[in-house]
Amino acid sequence: MIGLENIEKRFGDAVVLRGVTVSIEEGSVTALVGPSGGGKSTLLRCINLLEIPTSGTLRLGDQQLVFHPGQRVPRDAIQRIRRQTGMVFQNFQLFPHRTAIENVMEGLVTVLKWPADKARARAMALLEKVGMAHKADAWPATLSGGQQQRVAIARALAPSPKVLLCDEPTSALDPELAQEVVDVLAELAKEGTTMVMATHDLRLASTIAKEVVFLDGGMVVEKGPARQVFTHPEHQRTKRFIATLT
Ligand code: ATP
Ligand code: MG
Repeated sequence: MIGLENIEKRFGDAVVLRGVTVSIEEGSVTALVGPSGGGKSTLLRCINLLEIPTSGTLRLGDQQLVFHPGQRVPRDAIQRIRRQTGMVFQNFQLFPHRTAIENVMEGLVTVLKWPADKARARAMALLEKVGMAHKADAWPATLSGGQQQRVAIARALAPSPKVLLCDEPTSALDPELAQEVVDVLAELAKEGTTMVMATHDLRLASTIAKEVVFLDGGMVVEKGPARQVFTHPEHQRTKRFIATLT
């Protein structure tokens, strides 16, 4: 349901993704792992078009976009893709001057033009799902990191995206708070939410990922079922990296 074919991304002369091909099944969780600078965040950003690939093909649901160097992508095509994705960032990025529930409602009201009461009801249901209904009226600054991240997950899910993209969702959190977030993501995975997540957190990746893609130097070195990649990596490069995690 998400297909990346031969995705290349350059920033000036720097080639950051060198022909990445990955397909992501509906209802599955894919972890992007690999050394710092390998291209994990860039690849996530190429799925929701926060970065426009230099070349290659992106398929998301029934949409397909083919990129060519120097060619502009129409704004409405970008919007159509972006609306089908939700993004969760390492540092939460909640709107500081909105309460928890207002953060979750924001996109529904401003982008999708939902009436406020309908948006509020959906936001409350999502806050319940992530265990944050009791903090609906709290300001982000008064919440722990784990609580902020759970609100951020609810916000990302509000418009019912086809895929939830998470960039290091637990790496700003100490282990106990990270566990709260892992639990929420594990529950979403169990319900069949399609997710792609970049992570250094082996606990997160091994608990919930079905597929693992190992990226190094902008290339897919190895990909396959999580258990196989983690316990019997084929490539030396992957073996060495997995050993540093455990
Ligand atoms: P980390 O594990 O540290 O988060 P990553 O795998 O997410 O790393 P990316 O952030 O995707 O790696 O970066 C891949 C490469 O692309 C790096 O060399 C980085 O410096 C480069 N890069 C990323 N964004 C830009 C940009 N906007 N302009 C120039 N280079 C960039
Ligand atoms: Mg990154």
